[in-house]
Amino acid sequence: MPNAAGDPRGGPARRVRVGILSLQGDFERHGRSIETLGVEPVRVTMPADLEGIAALVLPGGESTTMLRLLASTGLREPLESFARSRPVLGTCAGLILLGSGAEGLPGPTLGVLDVTVERNAYGRQIDSFAAEIDAPAVGGTFHGVFIRAPRIRRVGAAVEVIARRGEEPVGVRQGRVVGLCFHPELTGDLRLHRWFLAEVAGLELPAGPVTGSRGAVAGESR
Ligand code: GLN
Repeated sequence: MPNAAGDPRGGPARRVRVGILSLQGDFERHGRSIETLGVEPVRVTMPADLEGIAALVLPGGESTTMLRLLASTGLREPLESFARSRPVLGTCAGLILLGSGAEGLPGPTLGVLDVTVERNAYGRQIDSFAAEIDAPAVGGTFHGVFIRAPRIRRVGAAVEVIARRGEEPVGVRQGRVVGLCFHPELTGDLRLHRWFLAEVAGLELPAGPVTGSRGAVAGESR
């Protein structure tokens, strides 16, 4: 593994770098979650930012705006080829971008995750809510924060459901690509980020808790 972060105080050059698409939306919080796990978050706003990152996070936000910005920044094509071969985590709007398609978008999605989603699919009164979900990969119950969330309406044969709310799939995985309908970065619970980085992306993370408060130790190591 390149740049294995065996020593969280080893300095930036030795730390694993993970990109976060930062055109719009909730990229800041994902950055803090990742930093707390001893990995260096890198903002991705142009094609060159994809070089040297071990994995990528597509945050929540507004999928229509993100698709337009992907086109105007020239990021669409390099991002798509990254997502075809490297680990990617998409949350909410990020899941929409990874999937096979959804209504009302200004262009095609990346199509690297064989699911069909329905955008803004919860009724008006509950278009934002929190619910306990079942995520066995991270040891059971997880507090899911859903914000104008999409619903997964079709799950392809190669796709594994990794989180459910009742019977309904709210987290999916297809090889190195993971999509979540909810926002783990808005809770203090880093289990899903840790699982993605360690188990899905195969990155070596510093052992044990790096810090109790978001990003404090990662900041000190600079
Ligand atoms: N409703 C948004 C969309 O369709 C997604 C919301 C979110 O990312 N929290 O893109």
